[in-house]
Amino acid sequence: MPRRYYCDFCDKSFADNPVARKNHMNGTTHQRNRKQHYDSFRDPEILLFEEINKKPCKHFLQSGTCTFFDSCRFSHLREDEKEQLRTQATEIKTKKYKRQDIKKDKNDEDLKTFLQKIESGQKFDQKEGKNIHSGVVIPKYSIPTFLQTVANLPPSLVPPPPDSFLDLELKEWG
Ligand SMILES: [Zn+2]
Ligand SMILES: [Zn+2]
Repeated sequence: MPRRYYCDFCDKSFADNPVARKNHMNGTTHQRNRKQHYDSFRDPEILLFEEINKKPCKHFLQSGTCTFFDSCRFSHLREDEKEQLRTQATEIKTKKYKRQDIKKDKNDEDLKTFLQKIESGQKFDQKEGKNIHSGVVIPKYSIPTFLQTVANLPPSLVPPPPDSFLDLELKEWG
């Protein structure tokens, strides 16, 4: 039985000989499938940016082939393919921002509860399975009475507003 060559990109097999292989590799369908496969791992936004900065490859768009294949410095994408890429890039962007927003809200909420707990001296006890008094109470800062009459206190003597932590830009690690 003659050997068959199976092409992963095209999900197709054919008789394995140098000519058939060369013909297949140089075929438009294979080139397209191969490019699509690799492009699917790339960020559509970057891909789009690259493609719209290239001039269209007249040769490819007219004849469907181009001797430079993937390394052509002109774009092989048709207008509708660019449009599709644009939609994909926008979708991914929207999803990314949405996720960040949710995370941010959650962080704020966590910090708020955390500060409230500390302020009231409460601590979650693993063994008891409930909040217990930690014995530590974060003082609520206030200006001492004898300073309250002094006008224009230097900033270092003015206590931070209690929720000043909540406006902090929390950077994610890693
Ligand atoms: Zn193929
Ligand atoms: Zn080309």
